[in-house]
Amino acid sequence: MNNFFTANISDADPLISAAIDDEVRRQADGLELIASENFVSEAVLQAMGTAFTNKYAEGYPGKRYYGGCEFADVVEQAAIDRAKQIFGCEHANVQPHSGAQANMAVLLTALEHGDQILGMNLSHGGHLTHGHPLNFSGINYKVADYGVDKESEQIDYDELQRIAEESRPKLLICGASAYPRTIDFARIGEIARSVGAKIMADIAHIAGLVAVGLHPSPIPHCEFVTTTTHKTLRGPRGGLSMCKEEFAKDLDRSVFPGVQGGPLVHVIAAKAVAFGEALQPGFKTYQQQVLANAKALAQTLADGGLRIVSGGTDNHLMLVDVYMDGKGITGKAAEKALDEVHITVNKNTIPFDTQKPFVASGVRLGTPALTTRGMKEADMKIVGEMIASIIREPESEEVRAKVRKDVAELTAKFPMYPNRYKSGQTEAISAS
Ligand SMILES: *Cc1c(COP(=O)(O)O)cnc(C)c1O
Repeated sequence: MNNFFTANISDADPLISAAIDDEVRRQADGLELIASENFVSEAVLQAMGTAFTNKYAEGYPGKRYYGGCEFADVVEQAAIDRAKQIFGCEHANVQPHSGAQANMAVLLTALEHGDQILGMNLSHGGHLTHGHPLNFSGINYKVADYGVDKESEQIDYDELQRIAEESRPKLLICGASAYPRTIDFARIGEIARSVGAKIMADIAHIAGLVAVGLHPSPIPHCEFVTTTTHKTLRGPRGGLSMCKEEFAKDLDRSVFPGVQGGPLVHVIAAKAVAFGEALQPGFKTYQQQVLANAKALAQTLADGGLRIVSGGTDNHLMLVDVYMDGKGITGKAAEKALDEVHITVNKNTIPFDTQKPFVASGVRLGTPALTTRGMKEADMKIVGEMIASIIREPESEEVRAKVRKDVAELTAKFPMYPNRYKSGQTEAISAS
């Protein structure tokens, strides 16, 4: 046997192998609070690392452009069936390589080049693919945008109605990357219908909550619904586009050959495994804990003197105003100070931010990843106190040393990937 087919990666490529081990260790030894991240199960990881990566399967189950697709058909059909069962949608396409591609396929289906769209402003919580000038959505379509009310920091639906009447979009895009409150899809549906627009709801962040009924579903109100599969839904990196049956053929054509070539069958296999997990009763318990943890974390941070944008959270994430008009530190400084004690967050603009996006007044925190590790409200109180102490005294070596020790203690209580975790080797963590 040729050792091409037998050598372990540790022998075949020591550089990459060590980096993979370091990354597993970084994830296990730190506190992951990036709201768009999560930890997949060992089963999902295994499905991704399979020989399905070798397979070309352009087309759809039963209608492929290549031979040898009988097992690819099994996994893709299972992924489709499970997605439909989870969300109650009429049609699902599981091939989009990412959330951005899932959205691109819908825009290609619903619009002609140059048509008017209406999306949520990026600096108020929207996403690049909802009309940012540097993104395909802003390059190829005319864009109008809506945002949140200055006082409540929540979506201003009356203003959205007014902007919709003024801009007359062909597609209204809702859903967000940094919006901590419940989105009223029924109301947005009424607004869209009142101006003759179709709707795309992008539930990339909240899909896991929607899956178990802990956030109202957009499916009854929207022609198109898209999501990523790797955020609260806790699957592999990827996208999913759903639609009403009348658009099914067009949407499938938009994904392939419109936007993509061959599907990533190994990733679709992992999506199927994750969707299977989402259909288990334990997934609802998990999502309930995600919400309880987010509330506990937001409360602790508020008690610690930080300002929570919109006054709280209804979902898995919160925006924390760490700058507070100059009383605190910038989002950029907070991200860096927290990174140094192995707490991972991202800086984020807050609505009506006075700082540039690369500096920002806020940080965005989410609880999906820590909840997957098994943490509960009492642990969130510890995490929140650590964060508040670092932001209060970002330069104090004493505070840093204490928090580093507390992070190590807390993470040690919630081990992950025991079959993949290798201690020692390099000093990637302490070097950060
Ligand atoms: C994360 C996200 C996406 C994009 O997902 P990628 O997989 O990174 O392309 C799209 N829309 C929203 C609202 C998101 O939060």
